[in-house]
Amino acid sequence: MPGPLGLSIIPAEPAVGQVIAITGAGRGIGLATARRFSEAGHRLALNYRHSRDSLDEVVSLAAERGGQAVLVQGDVGDRADAERFVATAEETYGRIDVLVTNAGILFSEPTDQVTPEHWEETIRTNLNGTWWCLRAVLPGMLQRGEGRIITISSELGMIGFPTYAAYCASKGGIIALTKAVAKEVAPRGILVNSVAPGPIVTDMLVKDTIEFNDETRQQVPLRRFGEADEIARVVEFLAGPGGAFMVGQVVSPNGGTAI
Ligand code: NDP
Repeated sequence: MPGPLGLSIIPAEPAVGQVIAITGAGRGIGLATARRFSEAGHRLALNYRHSRDSLDEVVSLAAERGGQAVLVQGDVGDRADAERFVATAEETYGRIDVLVTNAGILFSEPTDQVTPEHWEETIRTNLNGTWWCLRAVLPGMLQRGEGRIITISSELGMIGFPTYAAYCASKGGIIALTKAVAKEVAPRGILVNSVAPGPIVTDMLVKDTIEFNDETRQQVPLRRFGEADEIARVVEFLAGPGGAFMVGQVVSPNGGTAI
């Protein structure tokens, strides 16, 4: 609705019933994001590769709240799988309003010992996976003249981290991709932004690297690690009315580890 000065008046509450597509939704940050959007009654398309168990609960929750959730198995690093995920969501709901590219992997090893397989797999999953999904969702959004794309990068894509060369390269790539596409498609009504989390307690960090002990906690200015739902809330903000003027931004909920 046009308001004073011809500006649009933004509704206070997010429009319920939006179609949200999330990759890597079976655990960690992706699962927390799927839970948050399903609680709000949105319609979801949820990609998983191996972890399906927790998603049954999300399907039930979405249905209880008047929404819906469709599950799509696939490897986002595989172009055909990524395109099938997007196509399934569009066939089921007629459109995608918000794409969240969350799927990601991490290997930790000294740079001179990074294997060609780990390098390829990291770039393929994190950067190519983001790209294939984003590429597939754009035509529909461009046609409708609206849509939001939220990439999940990492603060480490901006500041680097020892023994994470491939991961940091992939996440820095996602940030650059986010900014380039954001500038290009904003004039056509599509908002592209990135969430760049700091250390969040999920399998990724627990299994692979960081010991969640007092010593590492003291390195975080806030003196604690983040929870997956704290990232989901930032995604929700960018997807909702609060994100209406955000273009090409890298929002980094990180407890102060990168300022
Ligand atoms: P987890 O390891 O807990 O979850 C990773 C998710 O990615 C899983 O759902 C997994 O699916 C999915 N996934 C991995 N590879 C593929 C693939 N090829 N195709 C589809 N899905 C895939 O990690 P987080 O939840 O912590 O990470 C989520 C995102 O947040 C990642 O991009 C990560 O880099 C980023 N991030 C995380 C931080 C942290 O501290 N935890 C900090 C900064 C960024 P499945 O189990 O089904 O295989």
